[in-house]
Amino acid sequence: VVAGSHSLFYMLTPGDPLMIDGDKGKICIHSRRDIGPRTRSILKTSLRSSGADFNAAELDGPPPVTLDGIPIRLSINANLPEDLVHVNQPSIDGVGLFRTEIPFMLANELPSVRGQTEFYSHILNQMGMKPLCFRTLDIGGDKMLLLQKHGEVSTQATASGWRAIRLSLDRPMLLRHQIRAFLRAKMASNYKNVPLSIMIPMVAEVSEFLSIRKIIQIEIQREKTLGNDVPSVIKIGAMIEIPSIVYQLEQLLPFVDFLALGSNDLQQFFFAYDRDKPELSNRYDFLSPSFLMFLKQIIERVDGRVPLSICGESASHRLNVLALLGIGMTHLSVSPSHVSDVYRMIKRVHRGNLKTYMDMACQHLLSPEGCVERTSVTLRHRLKSFAVDHGLIRS
Ligand code: PEP
Ligand code: MG
Repeated sequence: VVAGSHSLFYMLTPGDPLMIDGDKGKICIHSRRDIGPRTRSILKTSLRSSGADFNAAELDGPPPVTLDGIPIRLSINANLPEDLVHVNQPSIDGVGLFRTEIPFMLANELPSVRGQTEFYSHILNQMGMKPLCFRTLDIGGDKMLLLQKHGEVSTQATASGWRAIRLSLDRPMLLRHQIRAFLRAKMASNYKNVPLSIMIPMVAEVSEFLSIRKIIQIEIQREKTLGNDVPSVIKIGAMIEIPSIVYQLEQLLPFVDFLALGSNDLQQFFFAYDRDKPELSNRYDFLSPSFLMFLKQIIERVDGRVPLSICGESASHRLNVLALLGIGMTHLSVSPSHVSDVYRMIKRVHRGNLKTYMDMACQHLLSPEGCVERTSVTLRHRLKSFAVDHGLIRS
């Protein structure tokens, strides 16, 4: 998908064929000519290879380590089975985020427990021994089901804040069916002994997380009562996407097996903008020192007590990767098309030098003079200079 192109509609006449390369964010207009078989095959290849910097062979290398010897876990975000093509290459840790709502969003009717079980066990079989984290349904808000669009599910779900676990807690059967399918899919897969990981999105309060845990327990008990085996290890984690939970981490930590920063939403709620509104989505930078300091505080508060990753799309972009390494993040889950780019970046960077550089830059930008000097306070230009000076990117 390519989104946010304002001028495109003025350049088109009805019937113009388009080539859309979602990985590179490009749209080519072929004015009223048939694109022909050759162009069609170029388009197919470029879609598959996902951009000039994607190099599948590179991913056959060992898991990435920075120049000063810090191992970084590199996972991918996946929405559909097609995203798992490279997951078994040695440099990739696994799937840090599997967005289960996408198959729901594409379906014309609610997937049955059996349908979901088959789908999830197919996914688990593709993973082999590598970890995969299923995120429970994050529908509502900007993620509408076709069923909602057709009015078959209450359109209240389109209200921006009534989504994910808020919706699941109010309509628990959707979630219960999904949990049932996760449990059965794991037992039907070839890798029963790999832990089942379930991740809960949009947690604002500890009590919400505990309510979801209870629902999971009810489903585990139900399976046992029916005489079905259940996975021997089930890990349940929370996503940090809403700032309020950052101030309840001490209370949350005893109950979570892992945490994941969902920086797309976290950034949206931190700056109070709508991520799907083009007028606002580029206004506040991921690389603003205030947001980076917020992320750094989270890393420091968690302090290695449970595994912590970041799975927002922002972790996929080169300068953002630098910033994340600089503030101490050691597990990145990125979009499949960017994974080799990120891999290369990690291996070329000296984390210690980067950290010193970032601390200095942040201090200056957050100083009273630094803040008033600029309309938008961001580390982007400085990180770019660092990357160019160290040969990490071309100028
Ligand atoms: C996020 O918010 O960063 C995230 C990974 O979830 P979503 O699917 O909402 O982008
Ligand atoms: Mg999110």
